[in-house]
Amino acid sequence: PLLSLYGLLERSANLYPSTKAVIAGENELTYLELKDASDWFAMDLFNRGFQMNDRIAIMLPNCLEYIIAYYAIHRLGGVVVQVNPLYQPNELDEILSDSEAKWFIGREEQQEKLRATSFSELVTFIPADTVRKGGPVPTTLDKELPEISLDQKEAVALLQYTGGTTGKSKGVMLTHFNLISNVLQDFSFTAEPLKLQSPGERMLGLTPLFHVFGNGRLNSAVYAGATYITLEKFEIDKVVELIRKHRPTIFPGVPTMYIALLNHRDLTADDLSCFKYCSCGSAPLPIEIIHQFQTAFSISISEGFGMSETSPTTHRNPVNGQKKPGSIGIPYPNTDARIVDLKTGTKGMTPGEAGELIIKGPQVMKGYWKNPGDTAAALRDGWLYTGDIATMDEEGYFYIVGRKKDMIIASGYNIYPTEVEDIIYQHPAVKETCVYGVPDTYRGETVKAAIVIKEGRSVSEAEIRAFCRQRMARYKVPREFEFRKQLPKSAVGKILRRILLEEEMQRHT
Ligand code: ATP
Ligand code: MG
Repeated sequence: PLLSLYGLLERSANLYPSTKAVIAGENELTYLELKDASDWFAMDLFNRGFQMNDRIAIMLPNCLEYIIAYYAIHRLGGVVVQVNPLYQPNELDEILSDSEAKWFIGREEQQEKLRATSFSELVTFIPADTVRKGGPVPTTLDKELPEISLDQKEAVALLQYTGGTTGKSKGVMLTHFNLISNVLQDFSFTAEPLKLQSPGERMLGLTPLFHVFGNGRLNSAVYAGATYITLEKFEIDKVVELIRKHRPTIFPGVPTMYIALLNHRDLTADDLSCFKYCSCGSAPLPIEIIHQFQTAFSISISEGFGMSETSPTTHRNPVNGQKKPGSIGIPYPNTDARIVDLKTGTKGMTPGEAGELIIKGPQVMKGYWKNPGDTAAALRDGWLYTGDIATMDEEGYFYIVGRKKDMIIASGYNIYPTEVEDIIYQHPAVKETCVYGVPDTYRGETVKAAIVIKEGRSVSEAEIRAFCRQRMARYKVPREFEFRKQLPKSAVGKILRRILLEEEMQRHT
């Protein structure tokens, strides 16, 4: 039985010992080697005094050491606190203070940052290059690792900080049960109908491991005995090189990655013919991008929905059945989803009516760490209130309309940025866009669009405005357009509306 996340690795090391588990740059390990390396590091941690339930921060980009350390910590029943390696000392300070992590794994550059926090004396630093002691992976251990007994439903495996898209990120407590449930749900919803092989598949794991979307996919790859191929940084030329070299079969991406692939100068359908399954989540995937990807590469992307609070996945378009562009699909097995009215959160909405998306299932978090107030607001009667506004159609497909926080109210009209963005994306010169509300003394708010134009293209503001006017009601048409070289993005590649808003506020004061 799969009791802990470490069990995923142990199982695959038994079933597929000589299958390649990870390819990270020059580093490659089989499942048996990965398990041995994790056991070895678990022993090392144990000898240092690491105990069950200890919180330990990993502040690293996607790399082999991350993966070894991750399963070693779970072997000992520790709690992984994942930290974006790009965080600055003040951001790191907040996470260390909130999580009360006693241990910290990072490289020299992260150690520098740790030194600049108020925790450098309180936290034990473990250099990443000692996670796997340079030389060959040890195959025998001098000592026995302690047996641990985990309460699967209670034991927190991950303290997952949310994306910080709308504000300060919150620590989400995910148990072994939550995360393993989602791996199994994902497997039965995608791998089984697609008849993916166990072992035999290769996953291009480019989403950051420190974020729940990347981390969940690693667990899925390990469970399926797939080879997890990763890069430290998403650089499009390197990504294309990696695809041509390793011919991955599974690609979990985020919208900005698909946009980057589409805009690559010489990527061909042949290059991507290795992909058997492309999924997308974490932010709205513009319908136009789905169509363009289909046309350019004959690949249909299966969009899904997830959040840190749900380990992460709750919905996806069926991999074999009908995929509806613009929809996040249908709920995963054992997952209930409803749409309720925004004010009371209780009345159910009829098909087509917008309301808050709420979710119940084994993947729903235990709660927010040390935050009973936010926990009580988010978890009510066993339902998770997502803060996302959605609709459902007659066939049970769900559509995200936008976040409650992002809704623009202009002259009393509700406007959802995504709807406007979807239309702007249809303009052939547009590479990326972000729509948001700016303060307006007369209307309350008005709509503004920031736009990045494709290289070698040009378009005037008047042209874009006319394009919008033909395709949407007047009140939705942005009153202001701003052409930019790039848009601010979060670590997982989400376009940060919040930063654009902040800039706007500064201009107004
Ligand atoms: P924070 O909660 O700190 O503001 P965040 O909500 O972005 O950040 P995550 O947990 O990483 O942090 O992301 C979950 C959110 O991402 C969802 O609540 C939803 O708003 C958005 N999201 C995920 N998938 C999709 C999708 N397919 N379409 C639209 N939005 C999506
Ligand atoms: Mg959130």
